[in-house]
Order: sequence, then structure tokens, then C-alpha cells
Amino acid sequence: MGKIEFNDLGAQYRHLKKEIDAQIAAVLSEAHFISGPQVEQLEHELCEYTGRKYCVATSSGTAALLLPLMAKGIGKGDAVFVPAFTFFASAEVVSLTGATPVFCDSEEDIFNLDPASLEEQIEKVKREGKLRPKAVIAVDLFGHPADFPRIEEICRKNGLFLLEDAAQGFGGAIGERKACSFGDCSGTSFFPAKALGCYGDGGAVFTDDEETYRLLTSLRVHGKGTMKYDNVRIGLNARLDTLQAAILLPKLHAFDEENEHRRRAAKRYNEKLKDRFVVPQEREGFTSSYGYYTLRAKDSAERAKAMDALKAAGIPCMIYYPKPLHLQKVYEPLGYRRGDLPVAEKLADTVFSLPMHGYISDDVIDEICSILNKI
Ligand SMILES: *Cc1c(COP(=O)(O)O)cnc(C)c1O
Repeated sequence: MGKIEFNDLGAQYRHLKKEIDAQIAAVLSEAHFISGPQVEQLEHELCEYTGRKYCVATSSGTAALLLPLMAKGIGKGDAVFVPAFTFFASAEVVSLTGATPVFCDSEEDIFNLDPASLEEQIEKVKREGKLRPKAVIAVDLFGHPADFPRIEEICRKNGLFLLEDAAQGFGGAIGERKACSFGDCSGTSFFPAKALGCYGDGGAVFTDDEETYRLLTSLRVHGKGTMKYDNVRIGLNARLDTLQAAILLPKLHAFDEENEHRRRAAKRYNEKLKDRFVVPQEREGFTSSYGYYTLRAKDSAERAKAMDALKAAGIPCMIYYPKPLHLQKVYEPLGYRRGDLPVAEKLADTVFSLPMHGYISDDVIDEICSILNKI
């Protein structure tokens, strides 16, 4: 067996080489490197795929989360509710606007924002009266959508703006509703390791609201008005390169097939590992894209043992994420303590992720499972 990759981008390239090479060659010969026609085509196809009305392709997933907060005018004195168990960017964008992230706990089965904890934190902020509750960022961690039916209800009741962090969510669904279609806006990432990734940085924002869409397209290019040299607000340079859009088109066309492959691979892992570890759950009516395949060990010592055994066999494995955001050094001034968000802390101590991608073979899965089942 060859070298086992965590996410085998080489295998994907070999599979799509003809289409990807042709797309790259076309961009090089047309030389329309910024805002070329492939960007608009991608935005159009992403709308069709997700069922959203509007899409704005961006320079990264982080930009795709920052722009909607800027469009909503969120800033100093505002509270934005964010799960503590996620990638740093989910909260970083809140701090970049000047607003304050208020961390919430997660649901153990699907690793995502716990609606009950969200309600508690909203009440607490209201009681304290120091910050204005303004928005919620719910993350589709590892490809499984957050509990949006309940979170949307809480946001409606409290008049809060809801942003879906779908950086890992693309390809997931709740019933017929696809990821990137939940809440007021959604942001996804095309970082190479994501389920739909390009060959550099990239992302996209989605919304159904025309006014928000207009603001997003302005903010993406230095707060432009009628044209680039008419500046009506403070924005930034957050465009997706034409080259990345062109590379994403054939990858998007292959996405459903790869998604099905990942889902079959996850089932195979589950079958073989369910007696030894807590395998990822898929809630009734929810579809996960299994962008990451994440197990839970019973404690950090068992996790270390499992990861050591994998590493000794040359099998890559990762911890997403070892430190919840409320305990990160940069957020020390907010005054959180270990014990404040027990589920997020327990997940950070026990999760680990195995190789997963749209081209992983049964043999590789079987070998990984046999190593894990031997310890
Ligand atoms: C990757 C990721 C981001 C940031 O995306 P970039 O494209 O790397 O800027 C934000 N949130 C989550 C949950 C992510 O996994």
C-alpha cells in the first residue's frame, strides 16, 4: 500500500486532471485574472447547488464570515454568540469588527452549537446589560449541519442575525435544505483541505436578501459605489481569483460523487470502529458531508494511545481542535475559566480525526481500523 494521505488532493487531481488543466490554461490565455467570467459562473452554479438566491465569491472563508458581519454593521458593544468548539476564525471575525464573542457550549453528538446553551448565554447577556445581543454564528463542524431549525427559531424570537459558518459544511443538508442555505447569510471556505477546495485560499458568502447582496459586493471591493473609484463605505479587497474559480468549477461538478464516496467511507469506518470508539453521529433527517471523520476516545490518554499507534504505522491523524476558543490566550481578558463550557472542553480533550476524502479506498480504511482495534 502506498503512502496514506489525510486528504488525498493528488488522487483528486489525477481524477480531474483533464478538466482542471483545461480550466487553468483558459484563464492563462484569457489573462482576465481578477473578476474574470469564471467567477460569475461559479457564483451562479453555487446558487443552483445550494438553493440560495445570491452568492459572492471571496478571497477566503474568513472573509466570507467577516463581510456579512460588516454588512450588518456589527461592531463595538455588540454581542455575537459563537460555539467555543470550532476553528478560531469563527470567533476571530467577530473580534475584527470590534464586537465581543460570547462563547456557547456544544452538543456532544454532533459537535455543534447547543441551542440550550445559546439561550442561556443570550439571557445572561441581557441580564448583565453590558452588551447588545446582535448575532449568532453557528458552525457546521466536520460537515454535519448545526441544529438550524431550533437555532433559527431562537434567533427569530430574539431578533438576532444568524450567520451559518459553513466552512466545513458544504455538501451537508437538513431534509431537502442544503448547507449554505441556513440563517440570514452563510459563509463557506475553499481552503484546499475543505470538502470543496481550490488550489489556494478562497470562499463564498450566500444570502437570499438583495440589499445584503448589494452591500456584500461593495464591501468585497473597497466599499465601492457605482464603480471601483467611487468609495462609499470602508470595505476591503476580498475577491476570489479567477484562477481559483476556474479550478473550482470541475471540482464542483465532481462534488456529489465525492460526497457519496465520503459518506460510504464514513459508514465503513463506523461499522468497524463503533465497538471501540464513539463514532460520529448523523442526526435523524440530517446529512453530513463528512468533510472530516472525527472519533471520540473515552479520555485524552486513550486518544494519545490511538494516535501514537496510527503515527507509528505512518498513518496521518489530526486533532480538530485541541483547545476550545474560550480558553485561548487571546480571549483571556473575557474572563472564561476551565469548566465554563464542559462539553466543548471534553470534546477538545477526546476528539481525533482520521484520513477522509472522496477517493479513499476500502483497503486503507480496513488497515486503519485494524490498527485502532488492536490497541
Ligand atoms: C476553515 C475554516 C474557516 C476559515 O476559512 P479560511 O478559508 O481558512 O479562511 C472558518 N471556520 C471554520 C469552521 C473553518 O473550518
